[in-house]
Amino acid sequence: MPSPLTPAGVSEQTFRATSILHRTPWRPPVAVSGEGIYITLEDGRKVIDGVGGAAVNCLGNGHPEPVKAIKEQVDKLSYVYNMQLSNEPAEELAKVLVDSGGKDSTGRNNFELCGIVAGGSEAMEGVIKLARQFFYESGQPKRKNFIARHLSYHGNTVATLSLAMNPARRAPYEVILDHDNFHHVSPAYAKRFQKPGESEEQYVERLRQELEDKFIELGPDTVIGFVAEPVVGATTGALPAPKGYFKAMRSVCKKYGALYILDEVMCGMGRMGTMHAWQSFGDGEAPDIQGVAKGLGGGYASIGAILMSKEVADGVRNGSGFWKHGHTYQLTCAASLAVQRVIASENLLENANTQGQYLAELLRKKLQSPNAIAAPYTFDIRGGGMFWGIEFDLTSPDVAKLDFKGGQFAMILQARCLLNGLIIMGFTGGANLEGTQGNHCILAPAYNVTRAEVEEIVKRFVESVEEVIKESN
Ligand code: PLP
Repeated sequence: MPSPLTPAGVSEQTFRATSILHRTPWRPPVAVSGEGIYITLEDGRKVIDGVGGAAVNCLGNGHPEPVKAIKEQVDKLSYVYNMQLSNEPAEELAKVLVDSGGKDSTGRNNFELCGIVAGGSEAMEGVIKLARQFFYESGQPKRKNFIARHLSYHGNTVATLSLAMNPARRAPYEVILDHDNFHHVSPAYAKRFQKPGESEEQYVERLRQELEDKFIELGPDTVIGFVAEPVVGATTGALPAPKGYFKAMRSVCKKYGALYILDEVMCGMGRMGTMHAWQSFGDGEAPDIQGVAKGLGGGYASIGAILMSKEVADGVRNGSGFWKHGHTYQLTCAASLAVQRVIASENLLENANTQGQYLAELLRKKLQSPNAIAAPYTFDIRGGGMFWGIEFDLTSPDVAKLDFKGGQFAMILQARCLLNGLIIMGFTGGANLEGTQGNHCILAPAYNVTRAEVEEIVKRFVESVEEVIKESN
């Protein structure tokens, strides 16, 4: 079947044959330089990055501080192996991360220790291993089961694909994934799955009960923990949970002595307008273990981190004494430290909140007001901070009659946005539990985006949505 993204006048074969890189079946435009949210392509066109790459870039391109930090650090000390030597930027970055968790009601730090890794998948792989090691070394070796959620994404390694339930990304690997130790409960997706007549509290209680039932089915003393993204990114597009949901899920973990684990790879490190998403979108409940990446390095560093509570840190300290996960590289802490310092010194969490609210207000006005062309197709606009999801409804009778070339509306929209000078992330899958319906995309510009830039992003986005709709009619 020809790809719906094949440009007019180019044969499918040529389209697919032009790529010699590994991530896309075709050769995407080549970026040659960038400044702030603007990226210049090889043909001289300037496009706006409306999604910070993949919700990574939080300062835009070319911010002088991380660039300077990288240059100075490489001159001073380019590499040491982290099992032999630590280094100043890594120590300072770990302190910034541990402090960023704040304190609990007794005045104790929510986070006690931090491990630094090379990216998001490695962070979540490390989270899985740390959680297992914690129980293995603290006298509960029977605990082996993880409970995560349908419509989630936790990374692209075999263990993290097993942990998450993202049907499209799992499909080719299903037979080699681990089905024994990784289990799944319903997502928290009120707009799709809350039953008619059910209050928000009843919906949350239903989800809490389902988690408790899963604990009981597996045997509560075999469960390592519950894992979730506070605001779901790739699978359902900047989707927050109903109020009280995370408090309820955490209470089940605590009742059975299991760990409450959050994946903040995409929604964390300031993306939601607070340093950690759980501080604003997770009922304020600190996790026992948390993975972060993306905004940690802001595109200036390939880096991830694992944060853990004192209880988890002590379990490992009093066991073998060291966390057994560790890869060779930890090269980029100076850049990441500079990114975190800029977020603080330029007050970018506040800007992310203010401009993010403005972005959502404009999107709602232009896509959902009664006379808007896109109104019948726009199912939901949700998110917070500088992380917004727009979901289009391909299941409503109004929309189902249109020809969206195999239901890939969001992918077609992503291609159209690029033609109109805007980079977005489009995803398919999400409206049903199999992940085969529903089309959504994410807008997540850099935290330092200006009001005028927000207006331009929305203008290009809405124009693209309207063009795709008109052409499908
Ligand atoms: N976890 C979540 C929630 C993500 O969104 C992602 C990537 O999008 C990952 C883990 C994997 O991170 P990476 O792509 O850096 O390996």
